[in-house]
Amino acid sequence: MNVTSGINHILLQILLILFPILLYHLYWGDKDLLEDKRKHKLAYGLISTVSIILCMGFAFPFHNGYLLDLRAVPLLIAFLYGGYYSGLFVTVVFLAYRYYLGGEGACIPLLVSSVLVPSMLVITPTYIRHSSRYKILLATVITICTSFLIAIITYIKLSWTHMQIKEGTLEFFIGYGIIQVFTMWITVSLIESLREKAMITYQLRQSDQLNTMSELAASVAHEIRNPLTVVRGFMQLFTENKQIPEDVKPYIGLMISEVDRTQEIIINFLSLAKPKLERIEKISVAEHIQHIKSLMYSYAILQNVDVQVVTADLPYIETDPDKFSQVLINIIKNGIEAMPSGGELKISVKESKDMAEICIKDQGVGMTEEEVKRLGTLFYSTKTKGTGVGLMVSYRLIEKMNGQIEVKSQKEVGTQFTLKFPRIAGKQN
Ligand code: ADP
Ligand code: MG
Repeated sequence: MNVTSGINHILLQILLILFPILLYHLYWGDKDLLEDKRKHKLAYGLISTVSIILCMGFAFPFHNGYLLDLRAVPLLIAFLYGGYYSGLFVTVVFLAYRYYLGGEGACIPLLVSSVLVPSMLVITPTYIRHSSRYKILLATVITICTSFLIAIITYIKLSWTHMQIKEGTLEFFIGYGIIQVFTMWITVSLIESLREKAMITYQLRQSDQLNTMSELAASVAHEIRNPLTVVRGFMQLFTENKQIPEDVKPYIGLMISEVDRTQEIIINFLSLAKPKLERIEKISVAEHIQHIKSLMYSYAILQNVDVQVVTADLPYIETDPDKFSQVLINIIKNGIEAMPSGGELKISVKESKDMAEICIKDQGVGMTEEEVKRLGTLFYSTKTKGTGVGLMVSYRLIEKMNGQIEVKSQKEVGTQFTLKFPRIAGKQN
């Protein structure tokens, strides 16, 4: 084979591998990848089958009955991106086709596969979860090993049957191995960049939708808040009105607490759309918590919960006081709600070198480790009247405040939330 036909042959082989992949990604790949992963895997199995048949069909017969081509690339791609069912399918097709083509070298693929297939069955399940760079590296290393394996087995077979090997055969194998590794590197890099592009486009579209939705929700929520304030004001007046019969007043109280609940939900939804700190002030953590305790007083009494505040230190922090209250109210309310038959909720304030530490501990139902891990995910709620927004908003706001949150919980014993915020020195303004 002269140099020009050699290059032609290699370019054709590379084209036969890359072209089906490009064609698939151009028309269907992105959709399958995001919506139907099984279809995507199946497609990779089919693409690899087509490529491997074409590669072998246009192989270079370098010795009588020995075929040289880049078939290892589609075979490995089938395992790595199509899963092991696709991989096994392609292996069977290629072994059958190789057997059909016949020749002295027909037994070599069987020997190579008997080592390659079990190794791929081990590597395949975890491959797809790694980062792009790691995948490219791993695929390259696998191809180096495969090329090495093919070369060794072919070399042994050749020297066995012919005793004397033509000069330059070793160099030929090395060059062929390098081309195979290079092709694999290009192919995996291409697949990874196409997958990444599909993911980014999808995420962009999603976040665009989410932004529009949350802006819409925020504007609606904002409009509802004002009439609610008016309704609450009048109901408050009714409770103080002597003309309203006393037996009706508890119902008005109930209406007020439901309006308050609605307002709280709206505030949380508003913060979900815009978790921003607006007005930064220097606040005394202990004083602020006493204030929140008085706000929560009636709710706690209703649930038969005794709220205790222990302030060992009097740290100051700089933050948005409304958002700070919102975070604490969300967590304290959850604590109270976790104790359906009453109990004690202990809030303690401490300071360390540069942090103000708030600990909120309940004697409630507690959570398992899995449940704790789910905290802060949107719409996660185990309550019939829950929204699953409170903690998500709190987590986001705490992050904005450069704070930290830790949760310790034990089923049937209770839960402890520890919040830490950067502390500032000094007394009040
Ligand atoms: P919601 O209170 O509307 O259900 P949250 O985001 O405030 O939503 O809380 C999410 C879930 O986390 C709750 O439904 C509850 O299952 C769990 N949870 C939160 N705080 C506690 C706690 N102190 N004890 C037990 N479970 C809790
Ligand atoms: Mg809640």
